[in-house]
Amino acid sequence: MITPDPIIAVRNLDFYFKDFKALDQINLNVPAGSIYGFLGPNGAGKTTTIRVLLDLFHAKDGEVQIFGQSMRQHRQEILGRIGALIETPSIYKHLSGRQNLEVLRRMLGLPKQRVDEVLEIVRLRENADKKAKEYSLGMCQRLTLAAALLNDPELLILDEPTNGLDPSGIIEMRELILQLNQEHGKTIFLSSHILSEIEKLVSHVAIIDRGKILYEGTLAGLQQQNNQNITVSLKNPDKARALLSDHNYALLEQTATGFVVQVNTEEEIAELNRLLVMNEHDVYQLAPAEQGLESIFLNVTQKLDA
Ligand code: ATP
Repeated sequence: MITPDPIIAVRNLDFYFKDFKALDQINLNVPAGSIYGFLGPNGAGKTTTIRVLLDLFHAKDGEVQIFGQSMRQHRQEILGRIGALIETPSIYKHLSGRQNLEVLRRMLGLPKQRVDEVLEIVRLRENADKKAKEYSLGMCQRLTLAAALLNDPELLILDEPTNGLDPSGIIEMRELILQLNQEHGKTIFLSSHILSEIEKLVSHVAIIDRGKILYEGTLAGLQQQNNQNITVSLKNPDKARALLSDHNYALLEQTATGFVVQVNTEEEIAELNRLLVMNEHDVYQLAPAEQGLESIFLNVTQKLDA
């Protein structure tokens, strides 16, 4: 998928740990203004990709462009416009949340009020003067995000931002990410190994497994691409079921007015319809069967084994 002026454009990226090929011809296009989910099972290559994006690892082959500029040639300028959350948060536990941010603010030479602004955004103002050692994991994660926001970056790169959080921490982090995108206009690239944790959040998704990109596009597109099963609604389901079984169709489940049938191509859908109508069945509806995204994710990653 090519989008006009993607914020991140990765082309044919390979990365090796010695002889082990961890990234294999990675191509990514992250649209401006999107929340882009980078999804894959453990060990798929998510953190390695993020490290290459942030120029912490240097890939010999391939090209990374961010904000329309080559990372190789404009490293400092690009990194100054990115906020990143990667690995375990580096927080001074004996300092308060505010003091932690104050240290960074001075290093970056930013105006004093910026600390209060980011504390407000991540909803830590009330707890700003508590020592960080008294913070919950969710609060630590939000403090790290506040640090990443100090220089008001246009792009946030978050590696597994909900990892290890309890359900309420996950919800808080999700709300915060949505707010940063919708109210503050940030483009957000985030990785996860659990689709259900991010499916309500992301507008675009790439699926990576064993160093290869298996899908890139919208969530709706992913669902469509994998939605070959058909729900059949008709007047006399029992008779129709017998007919289809006789013709070796796989009937997957029963519904109130019919059943779900497995089909592989559009031609098979037409054939199925023809068979029913020729045998004088009154067909009310043929519709794509809803498939849970988690099972789609599994389907896509399992195709690599096929
Ligand atoms: P997780 O969700 O478990 O963090 P990931 O998708 O982020 O997984 P990576 O950490 O990018 O995966 O790892 C990709 C592959 O590269 C894995 O097979 C991993 O074992 C390997 N790998 C990662 N770091 C190194 C390293 N420093 N040296 C050698 N191999 C590595």
